[in-house]
Amino acid sequence: MTAADGGSKSVRGRVWLRDFLSRWTGTRSFVISAAVIFFLLAVTGLLHPVAAFAAFMVLAGISATRLMVVGETTPIRLGGGTGEKGGGIPGAGGSALALLQKLPDPLIVLDPSGRVAFANEAAEVQVGKAAAGRHVATVLRSAPLIAAIESVSLDGVVRSIEYAVPVPVQRNYSAYVAPVGGGEDDGAGRLVLVLLRDVTEARRVEAMRADFVAFASHELKTPLASLSGFIDTLRGHAKDDPEAREKFLAIMADQAGRMRRLIEDLLSLSRIELREHVRPSDAVDISGVVNDVSDGLRPMAEQHGVEIGIAAPAGLPKVLGDREELAQVVQNLADNALRYGRSGKRIDISLDRAEKGGRPYVRLTVRDYGPGIPKEHLPRLTERFYRVDAATSRARGGTGLGLAIVKHIVNRHQGVLQIESELEKGSSFSVLLPLAPEPRPQ
Ligand code: ADP
Repeated sequence: MTAADGGSKSVRGRVWLRDFLSRWTGTRSFVISAAVIFFLLAVTGLLHPVAAFAAFMVLAGISATRLMVVGETTPIRLGGGTGEKGGGIPGAGGSALALLQKLPDPLIVLDPSGRVAFANEAAEVQVGKAAAGRHVATVLRSAPLIAAIESVSLDGVVRSIEYAVPVPVQRNYSAYVAPVGGGEDDGAGRLVLVLLRDVTEARRVEAMRADFVAFASHELKTPLASLSGFIDTLRGHAKDDPEAREKFLAIMADQAGRMRRLIEDLLSLSRIELREHVRPSDAVDISGVVNDVSDGLRPMAEQHGVEIGIAAPAGLPKVLGDREELAQVVQNLADNALRYGRSGKRIDISLDRAEKGGRPYVRLTVRDYGPGIPKEHLPRLTERFYRVDAATSRARGGTGLGLAIVKHIVNRHQGVLQIESELEKGSSFSVLLPLAPEPRPQ
C-alpha cells in the first residue's frame, strides 16, 4: 500500500462520516415527526394503534436504509490500484494516466486534504521523486502558488498565477490551478489540479525586446536632441553668424549620419532575423567578396595611415551563402578593425581552409594590431548595443549593432564565429563558413 492509498482512505472515511452526520440530522427530524404524527393518529383513534405502529416502522426502515446506502456513492475516489508512479486517480484509466505522465508540462493533482495524489514525470523537478501522499506545502516551495491552491480548494474558482523560483537559477512559471469535482459549497471531496508551464524563456525574450526598444530609442534620442538644439541655435542667436552656421551644420550632418547608420543597422538586423531560419543556398566566391569590400575601405584606411593586407590561397572552394550578407560580415569586421585597431597601422584579411568537428570550412579572419579587448568583454561582444567603450564607439561612428549583425548572419549560414584578443597585441575575428556542394559533373 502506498502513502497515497493510506492518505486517501482516511480522507474517504472522513468525508463519509461527515456526509453520514449531515444526512442523519435530516433523517432524525423526519423520523421524529413521523413518530409524533402516527402517535397522535393512534391516540385520536383515526388510525388503529397497530396500523400506526406498522406504518411508522416501514417509514423508519426506508429512512435508515437510505441513510446507510447513499453514503457509498461518493463521486470522486482517490487511491492506488493503478500501479502508476505517484499514486493514481481511479476512473482516469491506466492509459490516461500514462498520457498524463508523458505531458511535457508539470501536472500535479492534489486530494481534498491537500496531499499529492498524482504528479507526472515533468513535475519531478518541482515536487521531487517521492511526492505522492505528501502535503503540497511540504513539496512546493512557492508561497503564491500554495496560496492559490488553498483558495481554489476552498471556493472552487479557477486561478492562473505567475511566480518565480529564484534558486538555483531564476525560473518563471505560470500556474493554472483548477478544482475537479467535489462539493459545491464547502469543497468536500474536491480535487485540485495544478498545471505548470515554464515561461522563463518567453519572459527573457520579452525583457530583451523591451531592453532593445529602450536602447534603440535612447541611441536615436541623443542625436535627435542635438539636431533640434542646433536648429534652435541657427534660428536664434547664430542666425547672422556665417562661421557658426558652417560649424553647426557640420555637426548636424554628423548627427544625421549617426541616425541614418543606426536606422540602417536596425533594419538590417530585423531583415536578417526574419530570414535566420532559412538557409542560404548560393555558391559564393568569398575571395571576390573580400576584394570588393576592401576596395571600398581603402580610402578610409589611407586617411588613417592603415595598410590592408589580403591573403587568399588560389583554388579556395566556394561557400554556401548569401553574397550580400557575407559582404556585410566582412564590412562590419573590417570597419571595426579600422575603427578600434587603427593604431596598429595594419589590418590583415585572410582566407584559408579549416576543419571543425570533422566538417570542412573556409575560414575568414580579420586581424588588427590595435589595443585589443579585455577578456571579460569577449563573451558579450555580440550582444546588441554592447560596447567596451561607448564613447569611443559613438565618436568613431559605431552603432553597437555591428557584431550582433555578424553573429546573426553567421548563425543563418550555420557557421562559427571565433573571437580572440590580446591586450596591446590586437584582435582577431574568424568566421568559419560551410562549403557549397560540389557542382555535379555534366
Ligand atoms: P560598434 O558599432 O560599437 O562598433 P560592434 O557590435 O561592432 O559595435 O562592436 C561592439 C564593441 O566591440 C565595440 O563598441 C568595441 O568596443 C568592441 N570591438 C569590436 N571590434 C573591435 C576591435 N577590432 N578592436 C577592439 N574593440 C573592438
